[in-house]
Amino acid sequence: MPELPEMEAWRRQLNDPVSAFPIAKAGPAHIATLKTFEPPLDQLAGRQFSRAERRGKRLLFPTADGELVLLIHLMTSGRLKLLKAGEAAPKQPAFALEFAGGSKLVLTENARRKQAGVWLYSPEQAERELEHLGPDALGLDAARLTEIVRGDSRRLHALLRDQRLIAGIGRSWSNEILHAAKLSPYALTKELTDEEIERLADAMNGELARGLALRERGASDAKAYRIHHKLGEPCDVCGTPIQQVDFESHTIYYCRTCQTGGRELKDRRMSRLLR
Ligand SMILES: [Zn+2]
Repeated sequence: MPELPEMEAWRRQLNDPVSAFPIAKAGPAHIATLKTFEPPLDQLAGRQFSRAERRGKRLLFPTADGELVLLIHLMTSGRLKLLKAGEAAPKQPAFALEFAGGSKLVLTENARRKQAGVWLYSPEQAERELEHLGPDALGLDAARLTEIVRGDSRRLHALLRDQRLIAGIGRSWSNEILHAAKLSPYALTKELTDEEIERLADAMNGELARGLALRERGASDAKAYRIHHKLGEPCDVCGTPIQQVDFESHTIYYCRTCQTGGRELKDRRMSRLLR
């Protein structure tokens, strides 16, 4: 799933093209992709977006007249394409926007279960829908992170991914951040020292900035990640083979030398936790 670095790279890339021309046509939209009916999508025609914004992993496109906000969440398999006038468009997009002049913004989702979503809101509705999100992970300082970490008792990997507490991080970048911070994914938030939280804040900002810079240059997953999906490869810090462990409903990658004092982590699958 694209996370903060990927979505911020998209936001920067889309900001100028989506606001350059008025919208000629909004749609078509797959019935599973368009999540709202009021206001109707055709209300966008003739209006112009003022810019592209991002909240956590979501993109927002407010209209210049201040009346509507289009929101896009790619989830696991949604993909965006920006097409120039005349460029061939996918036959069955999950959602498409055509601008005056002929350029298009197209959302595709090559998955049986459609998860990506498009919402059209008034600014007030959009604010309500997004008010549960915590502060953006990029730029979060140690003082604010200390409040968040001290306010919850949880395994660190789970806390980093909780969008209500910190917006923008998912399973990939939480692996990268914890590796850079030399902290165990299973560390209990209440037991972290002040020094460890500072290290975490530095690693969070450092890794997200590193990821953003790479994604802006079009880097692949294999180039962007140093530990995520690298099972058995040598840790780039110490050379220890990278390990994986099942936690809740997904897989964590970690280095036992850098992060867990040499200890192997035990699986904690959701099914075992529920039993
Ligand atoms: Zn290591």
